[in-house]
Amino acid sequence: MRFIFADSLDTIDPGYDFLADRNGAGRTIHRDDQYPHEFLDDAPYDGILVSRGIVGDARHPGKYSEAQLMRFRREGARRFLRYPETRFPGSMMMGDCGAFTYRNLPAPPYSAEDTAEFYADGGFTHGCSPDHLIFDFDEPGADRSITDVPEDVRNRYEITLQNAAEFYHAGSRLGGGFTPMGVIQGWSTASMADAARSLADMGYDYLAIGGTVPLKIDQIRRVLAAMRNALPSRVRLHLLGFGKIEELSALEEFGVTSFDTTSPLLRAFKDAKKNYWMRTPSGDLSYYTAIRIPQATENNKLKQKALEGSLNQEDARLLEDAALKGVRAYAAGGATLEQGLDAVMDYWAALNWDEEVSPSRRADAAAKQRKVYADTLTDRPWEHCGCRVCREAGVEALIFRTSNRNKRRGIHNLHVFHTHLSEFRQP
Ligand SMILES: [Zn+2]
Repeated sequence: MRFIFADSLDTIDPGYDFLADRNGAGRTIHRDDQYPHEFLDDAPYDGILVSRGIVGDARHPGKYSEAQLMRFRREGARRFLRYPETRFPGSMMMGDCGAFTYRNLPAPPYSAEDTAEFYADGGFTHGCSPDHLIFDFDEPGADRSITDVPEDVRNRYEITLQNAAEFYHAGSRLGGGFTPMGVIQGWSTASMADAARSLADMGYDYLAIGGTVPLKIDQIRRVLAAMRNALPSRVRLHLLGFGKIEELSALEEFGVTSFDTTSPLLRAFKDAKKNYWMRTPSGDLSYYTAIRIPQATENNKLKQKALEGSLNQEDARLLEDAALKGVRAYAAGGATLEQGLDAVMDYWAALNWDEEVSPSRRADAAAKQRKVYADTLTDRPWEHCGCRVCREAGVEALIFRTSNRNKRRGIHNLHVFHTHLSEFRQP
Protein backbone atom coordinates (compact mmCIF):
# COMPACT_ATOMS: atom_id res chain seq x y z
CA MET A 1 0.00 0.00 0.00
CA ARG A 2 1.53 3.28 -1.07
CA PHE A 3 1.18 6.48 0.90
CA ILE A 4 0.99 9.62 -1.21
CA PHE A 5 1.46 12.94 0.54
CA ALA A 6 -0.84 15.73 -0.62
CA ASP A 7 1.46 18.76 -0.70
CA SER A 8 0.39 22.27 0.01
CA LEU A 9 3.82 23.98 0.01
CA ASP A 10 4.61 22.42 3.37
CA THR A 11 8.21 23.43 3.85
CA ILE A 12 10.34 24.50 6.81
CA ASP A 13 13.39 26.68 7.14
CA PRO A 14 16.24 24.35 8.14
CA GLY A 15 18.16 27.32 9.56
CA TYR A 16 15.31 28.52 11.80
CA ASP A 17 16.57 30.01 15.07
CA PHE A 18 14.38 28.73 17.90
CA LEU A 19 15.84 30.94 20.60
CA ALA A 20 15.37 34.14 18.63
CA ASP A 21 12.22 32.83 16.91
CA ARG A 22 13.29 33.95 13.47
CA ASN A 23 14.37 32.54 10.13
CA GLY A 24 17.98 31.74 9.37
CA ALA A 25 20.15 34.62 8.19
CA GLY A 26 19.70 35.47 4.50
CA ARG A 27 17.01 32.83 3.96
CA THR A 28 15.13 33.04 0.66
CA ILE A 29 11.56 31.73 0.68
CA HIS A 30 11.18 28.32 -1.01
CA ARG A 31 14.74 28.22 -2.37
CA ASP A 32 16.30 27.75 1.07
CA ASP A 33 13.31 26.01 2.63
CA GLN A 34 13.00 22.24 2.66
CA TYR A 35 10.23 19.78 1.94
CA PRO A 36 9.81 16.77 4.25
CA HIS A 37 11.61 14.51 1.73
CA GLU A 38 14.57 16.92 1.65
CA PHE A 39 14.79 17.52 5.38
CA LEU A 40 14.52 13.92 6.61
CA ASP A 41 17.14 11.25 5.95
CA ASP A 42 14.54 9.19 4.04
CA ALA A 43 11.43 10.38 2.22
CA PRO A 44 8.46 9.80 4.56
CA TYR A 45 6.07 8.94 1.69
CA ASP A 46 5.95 7.01 -1.59
CA GLY A 47 4.76 9.84 -3.76
CA ILE A 48 3.40 13.37 -3.81
CA LEU A 49 -0.02 14.56 -4.90
CA VAL A 50 -0.33 18.07 -6.28
CA SER A 51 -3.77 19.56 -6.85
CA ARG A 52 -4.46 22.07 -9.60
CA GLY A 53 -6.62 23.88 -7.06
CA ILE A 54 -3.60 24.40 -4.77
CA VAL A 55 -1.28 25.47 -7.60
CA GLY A 56 -3.95 27.74 -9.08
CA ASP A 57 -3.93 29.67 -12.33
CA ALA A 58 -4.69 33.20 -13.52
CA ARG A 59 -8.46 32.70 -13.29
CA HIS A 60 -8.56 30.58 -10.12
CA PRO A 61 -5.75 31.58 -7.76
CA GLY A 62 -4.44 28.85 -5.45
CA LYS A 63 -1.77 28.84 -2.79
CA TYR A 64 1.17 29.44 -5.10
CA SER A 65 2.41 32.97 -5.73
CA GLU A 66 2.43 34.10 -9.35
CA ALA A 67 6.20 33.55 -9.56
CA GLN A 68 5.90 30.05 -8.06
CA LEU A 69 3.06 29.22 -10.43
CA MET A 70 5.15 30.23 -13.43
CA ARG A 71 8.16 28.30 -12.21
CA PHE A 72 6.00 25.23 -11.53
CA ARG A 73 4.63 25.28 -15.09
CA ARG A 74 8.06 25.92 -16.58
CA GLU A 75 10.14 23.45 -14.53
CA GLY A 76 7.58 20.75 -13.87
CA ALA A 77 6.40 19.29 -10.59
CA ARG A 78 9.46 17.21 -9.76
CA ARG A 79 11.95 20.03 -10.16
CA PHE A 80 9.76 22.50 -8.34
CA LEU A 81 9.26 20.09 -5.44
CA ARG A 82 12.90 18.96 -5.64
CA TYR A 83 11.64 15.40 -5.82
CA PRO A 84 13.63 13.91 -8.71
CA GLU A 85 12.97 10.39 -9.93
CA THR A 86 16.72 9.68 -9.70
CA ARG A 87 16.78 10.27 -5.95
CA PHE A 88 13.33 8.81 -5.31
CA PRO A 89 13.11 5.95 -7.80
CA GLY A 90 9.66 4.51 -8.42
CA SER A 91 7.93 7.35 -6.56
CA MET A 92 4.59 8.61 -7.82
CA MET A 93 4.10 12.19 -8.95
CA MET A 94 0.36 12.39 -8.96
CA GLY A 95 -2.00 15.18 -9.96
CA ASP A 96 -5.65 15.89 -9.36
CA CYS A 97 -7.93 18.84 -9.83
CA GLY A 98 -8.63 19.56 -6.16
CA ALA A 99 -12.41 19.18 -6.43
CA PHE A 100 -12.98 20.59 -2.95
CA THR A 101 -11.70 24.00 -4.04
CA TYR A 102 -14.45 24.34 -6.68
CA ARG A 103 -17.18 22.38 -4.93
CA ASN A 104 -19.61 25.33 -5.03
CA LEU A 105 -19.36 25.93 -8.78
CA PRO A 106 -21.99 24.33 -11.05
CA ALA A 107 -19.22 22.54 -13.00
CA PRO A 108 -15.44 22.05 -12.65
CA PRO A 109 -13.51 25.06 -14.03
CA TYR A 110 -11.16 22.62 -15.83
CA SER A 111 -11.69 20.55 -18.94
CA ALA A 112 -10.31 17.10 -19.68
CA GLU A 113 -8.04 18.61 -22.34
CA ASP A 114 -6.46 21.39 -20.27
CA THR A 115 -6.07 19.02 -17.33
CA ALA A 116 -4.10 16.58 -19.47
CA GLU A 117 -2.01 19.53 -20.64
CA PHE A 118 -1.37 20.55 -17.00
CA TYR A 119 -0.18 17.01 -16.22
CA ALA A 120 2.02 16.94 -19.33
CA ASP A 121 3.68 20.28 -18.50
CA GLY A 122 4.20 19.15 -14.90
CA GLY A 123 5.70 15.80 -15.88
CA PHE A 124 3.26 13.89 -13.69
CA THR A 125 3.38 10.08 -13.62
CA HIS A 126 -0.29 9.78 -12.61
CA GLY A 127 -3.21 12.15 -13.03
CA CYS A 128 -6.90 12.14 -12.12
CA SER A 129 -9.81 13.01 -14.38
CA PRO A 130 -11.59 16.29 -13.46
CA ASP A 131 -14.33 15.26 -11.03
CA HIS A 132 -17.14 17.07 -9.24
CA LEU A 133 -17.87 16.35 -5.59
CA ILE A 134 -21.11 14.72 -4.52
CA PHE A 135 -21.95 15.29 -0.87
CA ASP A 136 -24.98 12.98 -0.52
CA PHE A 137 -24.48 9.47 0.75
CA ASP A 138 -27.33 6.97 1.14
CA GLU A 139 -27.75 4.90 4.27
CA PRO A 140 -27.82 1.12 3.71
CA GLY A 141 -31.09 0.10 2.08
CA ALA A 142 -31.94 3.61 0.85
CA ASP A 143 -30.04 3.19 -2.43
CA ARG A 144 -31.71 5.84 -4.56
CA SER A 145 -31.61 5.32 -8.30
CA ILE A 146 -30.35 8.04 -10.64
CA THR A 147 -33.90 9.24 -11.25
CA ASP A 148 -34.52 9.67 -7.50
CA VAL A 149 -31.61 11.98 -6.68
CA PRO A 150 -31.76 15.81 -6.94
CA GLU A 151 -30.77 17.32 -10.28
CA ASP A 152 -27.53 18.76 -8.85
CA VAL A 153 -26.36 15.32 -7.71
CA ARG A 154 -27.27 13.77 -11.08
CA ASN A 155 -25.40 16.54 -12.92
CA ARG A 156 -22.28 16.08 -10.81
CA TYR A 157 -22.36 12.33 -11.40
CA GLU A 158 -22.75 12.72 -15.16
CA ILE A 159 -20.14 15.49 -15.44
CA THR A 160 -17.62 13.29 -13.60
CA LEU A 161 -18.25 10.35 -15.95
CA GLN A 162 -18.26 12.50 -19.08
CA ASN A 163 -14.97 14.15 -18.06
CA ALA A 164 -13.45 10.75 -17.34
CA ALA A 165 -14.39 9.50 -20.83
CA GLU A 166 -12.77 12.55 -22.46
CA PHE A 167 -9.79 12.48 -20.11
CA TYR A 168 -9.00 8.86 -20.91
CA HIS A 169 -8.33 9.81 -24.52
CA ALA A 170 -6.52 13.07 -23.69
CA GLY A 171 -4.40 11.29 -21.05
CA SER A 172 -3.56 8.36 -23.30
CA ARG A 173 -1.88 10.76 -25.72
CA LEU A 174 0.71 11.62 -23.03
CA GLY A 175 2.53 8.35 -23.62
CA GLY A 176 3.61 5.36 -21.57
CA GLY A 177 5.18 7.33 -18.71
CA PHE A 178 1.76 8.60 -17.70
CA THR A 179 -1.09 6.64 -16.09
CA PRO A 180 -4.52 8.26 -16.35
CA MET A 181 -6.72 7.68 -13.29
CA GLY A 182 -10.51 7.80 -13.51
CA VAL A 183 -12.25 9.39 -10.54
CA ILE A 184 -15.35 7.85 -8.99
CA GLN A 185 -18.07 9.99 -7.45
CA GLY A 186 -21.48 8.76 -6.34
CA TRP A 187 -24.22 9.11 -3.74
CA SER A 188 -24.39 5.44 -2.71
CA THR A 189 -22.35 2.26 -2.85
CA ALA A 190 -24.39 1.10 -5.87
CA SER A 191 -23.89 4.34 -7.84
CA MET A 192 -20.19 4.30 -7.06
CA ALA A 193 -19.89 0.68 -8.14
CA ASP A 194 -21.74 1.56 -11.40
CA ALA A 195 -19.34 4.46 -11.98
CA ALA A 196 -16.36 2.19 -11.32
CA ARG A 197 -17.63 -0.35 -13.85
CA SER A 198 -18.12 2.39 -16.47
CA LEU A 199 -14.59 3.68 -15.90
CA ALA A 200 -13.10 0.20 -16.24
CA ASP A 201 -15.06 -0.21 -19.50
CA MET A 202 -13.55 3.05 -20.79
CA GLY A 203 -10.13 1.42 -20.39
CA TYR A 204 -8.92 2.71 -17.01
CA ASP A 205 -6.95 0.26 -14.90
CA TYR A 206 -6.32 2.66 -11.99
CA LEU A 207 -9.30 4.34 -10.32
CA ALA A 208 -9.42 7.00 -7.64
CA ILE A 209 -12.33 7.06 -5.21
CA GLY A 210 -13.38 10.60 -4.37
CA GLY A 211 -15.80 12.16 -1.93
CA THR A 212 -14.96 9.85 0.96
CA VAL A 213 -13.73 12.60 3.30
CA PRO A 214 -17.04 12.98 5.21
CA LEU A 215 -17.70 9.21 5.28
CA LYS A 216 -17.34 7.05 8.36
CA ILE A 217 -15.08 4.04 8.23
CA ASP A 218 -17.96 1.52 7.90
CA GLN A 219 -19.29 3.52 4.92
CA ILE A 220 -15.83 3.45 3.36
CA ARG A 221 -15.72 -0.28 3.94
CA ARG A 222 -19.05 -0.71 2.13
CA VAL A 223 -17.81 1.42 -0.77
CA LEU A 224 -14.63 -0.63 -1.07
CA ALA A 225 -16.52 -3.92 -0.89
CA ALA A 226 -18.93 -2.78 -3.64
CA MET A 227 -15.98 -1.62 -5.72
CA ARG A 228 -14.20 -4.94 -5.44
CA ASN A 229 -17.38 -6.79 -6.45
CA ALA A 230 -17.85 -4.59 -9.48
CA LEU A 231 -14.31 -4.57 -10.81
CA PRO A 232 -11.97 -7.04 -12.47
CA SER A 233 -8.96 -7.71 -10.24
CA ARG A 234 -6.55 -5.98 -12.66
CA VAL A 235 -8.04 -2.61 -11.68
CA ARG A 236 -6.08 -0.78 -8.95
CA LEU A 237 -7.74 1.53 -6.45
CA HIS A 238 -6.61 4.80 -4.91
CA LEU A 239 -8.45 6.49 -2.05
CA LEU A 240 -8.44 10.29 -2.38
CA GLY A 241 -8.02 12.27 0.83
CA PHE A 242 -8.09 9.40 3.32
CA GLY A 243 -8.11 10.97 6.78
CA LYS A 244 -8.97 7.95 8.92
CA ILE A 245 -5.46 6.64 8.92
CA GLU A 246 -5.91 4.61 12.10
CA GLU A 247 -8.07 2.32 9.94
CA LEU A 248 -5.42 1.09 7.54
CA SER A 249 -6.60 -2.50 7.87
CA ALA A 250 -9.79 -1.66 5.93
CA LEU A 251 -7.67 -0.49 3.00
CA GLU A 252 -5.48 -3.53 3.14
CA GLU A 253 -8.42 -5.91 3.36
CA PHE A 254 -9.88 -4.59 0.09
CA GLY A 255 -6.57 -4.44 -1.74
CA VAL A 256 -6.29 -0.67 -2.01
CA THR A 257 -3.09 0.14 -3.93
CA SER A 258 -2.57 3.69 -2.72
CA PHE A 259 -4.10 6.54 -0.76
CA ASP A 260 -3.24 10.15 -0.14
CA THR A 261 -3.50 12.17 3.03
CA THR A 262 -2.10 15.20 4.83
CA SER A 263 -3.35 14.06 8.24
CA PRO A 264 -0.01 13.28 9.92
CA LEU A 265 1.22 16.77 9.10
CA LEU A 266 -2.00 18.64 9.80
CA ARG A 267 -2.80 16.96 13.10
CA ALA A 268 0.46 18.31 14.49
CA PHE A 269 -1.25 21.69 14.76
CA LYS A 270 -4.95 21.17 14.00
CA ASP A 271 -5.75 18.38 16.44
CA ALA A 272 -6.61 19.43 20.00
CA LYS A 273 -4.56 16.62 21.53
CA LYS A 274 -2.91 14.20 19.10
CA ASN A 275 -0.05 16.43 17.99
CA TYR A 276 3.12 14.35 18.27
CA TRP A 277 3.04 10.75 17.13
CA MET A 278 4.85 7.69 18.37
CA ARG A 279 4.62 3.97 17.84
CA THR A 280 4.13 1.75 20.85
CA PRO A 281 6.32 -1.36 21.23
CA SER A 282 3.31 -3.41 20.07
CA GLY A 283 3.17 -1.42 16.81
CA ASP A 284 0.20 0.89 17.38
CA LEU A 285 0.17 4.64 16.88
CA SER A 286 0.10 6.66 20.10
CA TYR A 287 0.03 10.38 20.66
CA TYR A 288 1.31 13.21 22.80
CA THR A 289 -0.12 16.68 23.20
CA ALA A 290 2.24 19.53 22.30
CA ILE A 291 2.83 22.24 24.90
CA ARG A 292 1.12 25.43 23.76
CA ILE A 293 3.29 28.49 24.26
CA PRO A 294 1.95 30.97 21.67
CA GLN A 295 3.74 34.20 20.87
CA ALA A 296 2.28 36.78 23.25
CA THR A 297 2.55 39.60 20.74
CA GLU A 298 0.84 37.66 17.92
CA ASN A 299 -1.85 35.83 19.83
CA ASN A 300 -5.41 37.04 19.12
CA LYS A 301 -6.77 35.85 22.45
CA LEU A 302 -4.11 37.84 24.28
CA LYS A 303 -4.61 40.89 22.07
CA GLN A 304 -8.29 40.82 22.97
CA LYS A 305 -7.48 40.54 26.68
CA ALA A 306 -5.10 43.47 26.38
CA LEU A 307 -7.84 45.53 24.71
CA GLU A 308 -10.28 44.63 27.48
CA GLY A 309 -7.64 45.58 30.02
CA SER A 310 -7.72 42.15 31.72
CA LEU A 311 -4.10 41.35 30.87
CA ASN A 312 -1.17 43.63 30.33
CA GLN A 313 0.80 42.67 27.20
CA GLU A 314 4.12 43.10 28.92
CA ASP A 315 3.04 40.72 31.71
CA ALA A 316 1.97 38.21 29.06
CA ARG A 317 5.35 38.48 27.40
CA LEU A 318 7.15 37.77 30.67
CA LEU A 319 4.97 34.71 31.34
CA GLU A 320 5.60 33.48 27.79
CA ASP A 321 9.33 33.89 28.23
CA ALA A 322 9.29 32.06 31.55
CA ALA A 323 7.27 29.20 30.05
CA LEU A 324 9.77 28.74 27.20
CA LYS A 325 12.69 28.88 29.61
CA GLY A 326 10.95 26.45 31.97
CA VAL A 327 10.42 23.83 29.28
CA ARG A 328 13.94 24.20 27.93
CA ALA A 329 15.49 24.01 31.38
CA TYR A 330 13.51 20.86 32.14
CA ALA A 331 14.56 19.26 28.85
CA ALA A 332 18.20 20.12 29.53
CA GLY A 333 18.06 18.73 33.07
CA GLY A 334 18.35 22.12 34.75
CA ALA A 335 14.85 22.19 36.23
CA THR A 336 12.47 19.65 37.74
CA LEU A 337 9.26 18.56 36.03
CA GLU A 338 7.22 20.56 38.53
CA GLN A 339 9.25 23.72 37.91
CA GLY A 340 8.80 23.37 34.16
CA LEU A 341 5.07 22.70 34.53
CA ASP A 342 4.60 25.64 36.90
CA ALA A 343 6.01 28.03 34.32
CA VAL A 344 3.92 26.54 31.51
CA MET A 345 0.74 26.60 33.58
CA ASP A 346 1.23 30.20 34.74
CA TYR A 347 1.14 31.26 31.11
CA TRP A 348 -1.72 28.88 30.39
CA ALA A 349 -3.76 30.44 33.23
CA ALA A 350 -3.21 33.93 31.79
CA LEU A 351 -4.15 32.78 28.29
CA ASN A 352 -7.28 31.01 29.45
CA TRP A 353 -8.42 33.45 32.13
CA ASP A 354 -12.17 33.89 31.97
CA GLU A 355 -13.81 35.83 34.76
CA GLU A 356 -17.17 34.21 34.00
CA VAL A 357 -15.83 30.85 35.13
CA SER A 358 -15.93 29.92 38.82
CA PRO A 359 -12.61 29.43 40.66
CA SER A 360 -13.29 25.73 41.22
CA ARG A 361 -13.99 25.05 37.54
CA ARG A 362 -10.90 27.01 36.67
CA ALA A 363 -8.85 24.88 39.03
CA ASP A 364 -10.31 21.68 37.52
CA ALA A 365 -9.46 22.76 33.99
CA ALA A 366 -5.93 23.71 35.04
CA ALA A 367 -5.38 20.38 36.81
CA LYS A 368 -6.54 18.47 33.73
CA GLN A 369 -4.27 20.45 31.44
CA ARG A 370 -1.32 20.08 33.80
CA LYS A 371 -1.77 16.30 33.71
CA VAL A 372 -1.79 16.27 29.88
CA TYR A 373 1.39 18.35 29.72
CA ALA A 374 2.99 16.27 32.47
CA ASP A 375 2.44 13.14 30.34
CA THR A 376 4.26 14.77 27.43
CA LEU A 377 7.17 16.07 29.45
CA THR A 378 7.63 13.04 31.71
CA ASP A 379 8.08 10.60 28.83
CA ARG A 380 10.53 12.89 26.96
CA PRO A 381 9.43 11.39 23.60
CA TRP A 382 11.79 13.63 21.60
CA GLU A 383 14.67 11.61 23.06
CA HIS A 384 13.24 8.33 21.74
CA CYS A 385 12.93 9.29 18.08
CA GLY A 386 15.90 9.29 15.73
CA CYS A 387 14.41 11.44 12.97
CA ARG A 388 16.19 14.65 12.05
CA VAL A 389 13.44 16.80 13.55
CA CYS A 390 13.90 15.27 16.98
CA ARG A 391 17.69 15.07 16.71
CA GLU A 392 18.03 18.75 15.87
CA ALA A 393 15.03 20.47 17.43
CA GLY A 394 14.57 18.25 20.50
CA VAL A 395 11.92 19.60 22.83
CA GLU A 396 11.29 22.58 20.50
CA ALA A 397 9.32 20.21 18.26
CA LEU A 398 7.01 19.48 21.22
CA ILE A 399 6.21 23.18 21.65
CA PHE A 400 3.06 24.31 19.87
CA ARG A 401 4.26 27.63 18.50
CA THR A 402 4.96 29.16 15.07
CA SER A 403 4.92 27.33 11.75
CA ASN A 404 8.54 26.20 11.92
CA ARG A 405 7.98 24.18 15.10
CA ASN A 406 4.48 23.04 14.20
CA LYS A 407 5.43 21.85 10.72
CA ARG A 408 8.59 20.19 12.02
CA ARG A 409 6.39 18.22 14.38
CA GLY A 410 4.20 17.39 11.37
CA ILE A 411 7.24 16.16 9.46
CA HIS A 412 8.21 13.98 12.42
CA ASN A 413 4.63 12.59 12.33
CA LEU A 414 5.05 11.80 8.61
CA HIS A 415 8.21 9.89 9.47
CA VAL A 416 6.42 7.94 12.22
CA PHE A 417 3.42 7.23 10.02
CA HIS A 418 5.52 6.04 7.08
CA THR A 419 7.46 3.71 9.39
CA HIS A 420 4.17 2.50 10.83
CA LEU A 421 2.82 1.80 7.36
CA SER A 422 5.91 -0.09 6.23
CA GLU A 423 5.83 -2.28 9.34
CA PHE A 424 2.11 -2.70 8.81
CA ARG A 425 2.78 -4.02 5.33
CA GLN A 426 4.78 -6.91 6.78
CA PRO A 427 2.72 -10.07 6.92
ZN1 LIG B 1 11.12 12.41 15.36
